Amino acid sequence: MATNLPPCVISNRDPVSVLMEHGQTREVTVDFTECTRTGPAHNSRFHTAALVNGKRFAEGHGTSKKNAKKIAAELALDRLYKVASRNLKDANQIVAENVELSEEEGEQPEPLSPAQKIKAMAKGVFELAEETQMIYFCKEKVVAAFLMERNGQQTVVALGTGNRSVLYQNLKSDGTCIIQAHAEIVARRAFVRFLYNELDRFVEGEKNPIFTRSNTGKLSLVDGVKFHLYISRPPCGDASAFPTIGSKDVRSKALRKQGVLRTLVADGEGAIPTDSVLPAGHNGEERLRVMTCSDKICRWNVVGVQGALLSHIMEPIYLSSVVIGSYSGDQKEHVPRAVFGRLKTGALDEKIYNPYMVNSPSLYYPEDHDLDNYALNKSRQYSVIWTIGDEGVEVIDGIFGTKISGPTDMAYSAISKKHFFTLFHQICTKFGRRDLLGKSYLQIKDKASEYRRNQDVLYQHFVSKKLGTWCSVSENYDVDNFYL
Ligand SMILES: [Zn+2]
Repeated sequence: MATNLPPCVISNRDPVSVLMEHGQTREVTVDFTECTRTGPAHNSRFHTAALVNGKRFAEGHGTSKKNAKKIAAELALDRLYKVASRNLKDANQIVAENVELSEEEGEQPEPLSPAQKIKAMAKGVFELAEETQMIYFCKEKVVAAFLMERNGQQTVVALGTGNRSVLYQNLKSDGTCIIQAHAEIVARRAFVRFLYNELDRFVEGEKNPIFTRSNTGKLSLVDGVKFHLYISRPPCGDASAFPTIGSKDVRSKALRKQGVLRTLVADGEGAIPTDSVLPAGHNGEERLRVMTCSDKICRWNVVGVQGALLSHIMEPIYLSSVVIGSYSGDQKEHVPRAVFGRLKTGALDEKIYNPYMVNSPSLYYPEDHDLDNYALNKSRQYSVIWTIGDEGVEVIDGIFGTKISGPTDMAYSAISKKHFFTLFHQICTKFGRRDLLGKSYLQIKDKASEYRRNQDVLYQHFVSKKLGTWCSVSENYDVDNFYL
């Protein structure tokens, strides 16, 4: 359903319990005014209003006490939702002011480090996003954000949460399906949406564009614009697959597999090396394997974060830093290898063609403490996505790969292949790139020859270093062969 209604309306949940839940998670009181009654006994009307943290919301009227309460809760949720959506539009400004205030507090005011600031900005925007969709969030979520830095100022431009991927039976071939709803993956797609918005601004000649024409004829970033990735915990796969407890023997056995490419299975089981055979599902049904976030981030450090389609129009965009919000045990030792260390052997950088390169983002851990308790299996299957400028977030069901609600009126996700392909067509038309029109999504991907060539060099590198074979959903299944 494509709508921008409060989440309780969409989810068909009882608004009173949603409002109660809202109070519990935010530690504020939720109450109702005493129910009054008007009219004759055979035709009575009941009236009550919700009180959230003492603030009185509009009165609900109903034919029963229960009904009046339900309507009052709905009115309160609707109001909270609208205020939250408005705040979300100004998220960066609100958060920056709060961060500034927190820096000025304390006995010895101390400015935050750039990494601490990135974490504070990402968390702040996440909390504002959370306000708009209270029932789809829960505490055990992985959160990822892309931040733009310009003239020393950080702005959150894209946000994503989640840790699920689509089940095989829910895969679609029309480009509408979100295959991997992991925080880092959906945040990158929300970031790509930001790039399309910026391309539009560039074409329209708006001021302060982030792009400029490079001498190759493609677009590149203007000087001083950088991008950072924030992740609330180390990415799944090579960065977090190793036991941090257990006997020395168990641990050293596992460590032999350091650096190998790994896939996740949609319905659990952890990150298994791509070259291992996947046990069959319960009834022998096929199960989808998707590359882990560690591997995908590693790939971004060669092919960039803009994706194959946009590589037709722009030079690759690389991350300046990756900020890890928290970690457990000795994961900190594994993150550098997982994210780019695997690219530093075998003279890969000499084999990569210009303007692509082997990128080494700075790695930061703004807080020097461990988070030792992840209960991700308890998290809900929903992913929440936001791109700067959006009033409200988009919610995706990670197992079905479908959109549940969001600020656009499309039936499918604003970060789906299908929507990106539409945006791509619009941009190509504006840029006069007729050679890129009228083809299938797959053909356009294949036509991105520089991108493909460097990706092949990378995959070959993994094979030659005995790290395994890249396992691509789009090569194994018919998911890219669609037209607009
Ligand atoms: Zn992941």
